Amino acid sequence: MKDHRLYVLPQLPYGYGDLAPYISEEQLRIHHSIHHQAYVNAANNLLRRLDDARRENIEIDIKAVLKELSWNVGGHILHSLFWKNLAPPGIGGGKPSGKLLNILEEEFGSFERFRREYTQAALSVEGSGWTALTICRETGRLLTMQIEKHNVNVYPTFQILLVIDVFEHAYYIDYRNRRADYIEAFWNLIDWREVDRRLKEALK
Ligand code: MN
Repeated sequence: MKDHRLYVLPQLPYGYGDLAPYISEEQLRIHHSIHHQAYVNAANNLLRRLDDARRENIEIDIKAVLKELSWNVGGHILHSLFWKNLAPPGIGGGKPSGKLLNILEEEFGSFERFRREYTQAALSVEGSGWTALTICRETGRLLTMQIEKHNVNVYPTFQILLVIDVFEHAYYIDYRNRRADYIEAFWNLIDWREVDRRLKEALK
């Protein structure tokens, strides 16, 4: 039985052999069925551990669990995006057209320039990471994002419902180094109507 509150390894939109000769059948099969699956399994185990701790109301190492969880959920989300932005040669490859080409040319000057910047970004990611073309919803600008170590605690694409700034600059005048007091005060200030609005937006 599929539990809709757990992660599932997505099916590839093509066969394991379909990306050859650029990615071999063996390479793709192992990457998808072993490596991606491992992120899914680990994320689900951590979610179960959180569920159990909440049910029994016992303390757990939240910092450690959240870090590990973000590593695995981030890996799952990024792999899922990666598989879907590939297609067998002939369908994939070449150049984009239409609005996508226009927006790339507007931002980077030319498709070739975009390709060079994206390649350089991918080449220079520190550690074993990712490179993503992103769009800023505020400015409409395309930005290339280097993702080191998967995520460093950020879930790619997740809609933020409620956020607190815990940089010292947010509280040191009022609370000095007492971050806990500032966090306690924060609970008196939350506009739950806005959180609810964001939740509805995300569930649309
Ligand atoms: Mn991978």
